[in-house]
Amino acid sequence: MNDVLHDDAVIGAKKAEKIAYENNKLHKRLCRQVGQAIGDFNMIEEGDKVMVCLSGGKDSYGLLDILLTLRERAPIHFDIVAVNLDQKQPNFPAHVLPEYLTKLGVPFHIENQDTYSIVKRIIPEGKTTCSLCSRLRRGILYRVADELGATKIALGHHRDDILETFFLNMFFGAKIKGMPPKLQSDDGKHIVIRPLAYVKEADMERYAEVKQFPIIPCDLCGSQENLQRKQIKAMLREWEKKHPGRVENIFSALSTVVPSHLMDRGLFGFAELQATGESVPNGDIAFDEEPCSTGVNVVKFSGLDD
Ligand code: SF4
Repeated sequence: MNDVLHDDAVIGAKKAEKIAYENNKLHKRLCRQVGQAIGDFNMIEEGDKVMVCLSGGKDSYGLLDILLTLRERAPIHFDIVAVNLDQKQPNFPAHVLPEYLTKLGVPFHIENQDTYSIVKRIIPEGKTTCSLCSRLRRGILYRVADELGATKIALGHHRDDILETFFLNMFFGAKIKGMPPKLQSDDGKHIVIRPLAYVKEADMERYAEVKQFPIIPCDLCGSQENLQRKQIKAMLREWEKKHPGRVENIFSALSTVVPSHLMDRGLFGFAELQATGESVPNGDIAFDEEPCSTGVNVVKFSGLDD
């Protein structure tokens, strides 16, 4: 009997050790990927005040958490302020974020704006409310960034959001356009950054479980999830399962664009193109089979693998 108990205890301890090891590996990977994205796109500079937009969802909690870790290790000084926009959605648990942030010791601001009533008043019943809601939210967050003196606005979009947006724009908007890791706001006054750009959603899900973030459900407004985005998400999940490496390659392709081999006349001067008589390295393989069609050149971001 004692032997059985002892064996169970050993197995339990080994399991716990393995879980701790995996969790530590996940944390390291997230820090490395976020650090790499920040560096690659020069997202944060000396003296920046980064306004981290916190919705109460897993991604924004994870973003804040990782940025706080990286700030401790960074060779530069930057400040962080967390901001939540309380949109007055029914049953929004307004106490959750202030309690969490106070415990964490992070400076924060809660902006109370009843955009929920505005959206409900303007958009007819049954129509999708997200586009007006996000436009209102964006305007408010830009104003708050001004008032707080924030130099960067950090959003919690991750790799899967970027890929979904890319396919949404292509399938339904007939555009090759994604979601940039760094962009100038449409009013020209702010820089918006997405430090989770290289992070997989599945990792954010696991990290939220490990850290036990007090998640606030995102469907309090009663809006349905965008059906088109849902379809794209399902397509990517299916690809990830059936064709390992494909989604990773598509993501890598977003940073390896060859305008001369597309058809955008604004990006490449096809009309002015003349034979120069000089060979162009890697330029003309018009009649060759691309090596990627054999599945050989699997491109990966350095440092993204364990
Ligand atoms: S899901 Fe609700 S809160 Fe989120 S953007 Fe859409 S309408 Fe706004």
